[in-house]
Amino acid sequence: MERKWPPSARWTEDDVAQVGFRNKERMDFSVARAMNFLMDRDKEKRLKSNLCALCFYSGPGMAGQAITGWNCRVCLKDQPLWGNTSPPLACEKCSKKHKLCTDCGADLYLRVRRSNVVPITPRALRKSSPSS
Ligand SMILES: [Zn+2]
Ligand SMILES: [Zn+2]
Repeated sequence: MERKWPPSARWTEDDVAQVGFRNKERMDFSVARAMNFLMDRDKEKRLKSNLCALCFYSGPGMAGQAITGWNCRVCLKDQPLWGNTSPPLACEKCSKKHKLCTDCGADLYLRVRRSNVVPITPRALRKSSPSS
């Protein structure tokens, strides 16, 4: 059968059903995700992986397939090569020490910290900080 583009403009009951079904699925997915954010059911696992609720329950983001060199943005130490183009923000040690999400650098509990204007990188290292 020959396919025309744009497809026939007439909207059919079949289209209504298909789009409705898709939207229902997307909504269910969004609600389930929102519930995960709110309920934090895997909290123990989440905290073990040093991730904030958003990063943990959002799943892996977009990342290219290339080995990437990176340094921790807190201690500034070079880290072992990362398997994709989206390396973490902080090393595991710093994530644990400062209770930061290793992925995005937010507070692990997404609390708003008052001291957020003070760099947490040790003073001695700040000068050698790579320009950001
Ligand atoms: Zn570090
Ligand atoms: Zn995060």
